[in-house]
Amino acid sequence: MSAIEIEQLGKSFGAVEVLRDINIEIASGEFVVLVGPSGCGKSTLLRMIAGLEEQTTGEIRIGGRVVDEMPAKSRDIAMVFQSYALYPHMSVADNMSFALRLAKVPREEIVSRVKAAAEILGLQDLLGRMPRQLSGGQRQRVAMGRAIVRDPAAFLFDEPLSNLDAKLRVKMRAEIKKLHQRLGRTSIYVTHDQTEAMTLADRIVVLNRGRVEQIGTPSELYEQPANLFVAGFIGSPE
Ligand code: ADP
Ligand code: MG
Repeated sequence: MSAIEIEQLGKSFGAVEVLRDINIEIASGEFVVLVGPSGCGKSTLLRMIAGLEEQTTGEIRIGGRVVDEMPAKSRDIAMVFQSYALYPHMSVADNMSFALRLAKVPREEIVSRVKAAAEILGLQDLLGRMPRQLSGGQRQRVAMGRAIVRDPAAFLFDEPLSNLDAKLRVKMRAEIKKLHQRLGRTSIYVTHDQTEAMTLADRIVVLNRGRVEQIGTPSELYEQPANLFVAGFIGSPE
């Protein structure tokens, strides 16, 4: 059984159709990257998978269960945003533990999970700091830490590195790859950066104007692009 199944998914905002006939099956542990130009519907698709947005047509199943019918809490998915969305008035440790405290996870368990995540992300010495005292890269690590402590079945990333400068982006890209190798969790990663897509993905989904142009491994897309759009998008420099 696939970890995440997306079937005949469509979305309209009023009369405007932004996604159409989306079919994607994602295996457990797979790292799938959604790429496509700005406005093609990447975030909307991710938000529907997270259950933050309702689809107009079709169905999404996670672990065989239909997303619409699952209460938000039992979805077992953690999302990392471009804007980090850290709580400015909370320390790094409190930002990371917030969801666990809400879920009434026992205190000792929270402490050990935050410690483990901080070690994975190199945040051990920053747990007492406030978000404003952190660099962009450190903030993004905290945002990832907040997702990791929840130990979700799947991670959803929406352009998590696009607010960072080019050098840091390359570094964080490698860290995300290592993280995936270490945790092996199903991940869906949105970017408009083809280099990021080519380096991180087991498979890439190329979206354009709300439709899937092609799904394949990086080398399949590079060697056998389905059309000129895919060829141009995958082949063009960063
Ligand atoms: P991407 O993440 O690929 O840049 P989005 O998923 O954010 O694209 O947006 C896809 C299209 O849907 C855009 O044309 C955008 O303006 C439109 N859109 C997104 N959210 C809304 C909304 N809440 N109401 C109306 N239109 C929206
Ligand atoms: Mg977006």
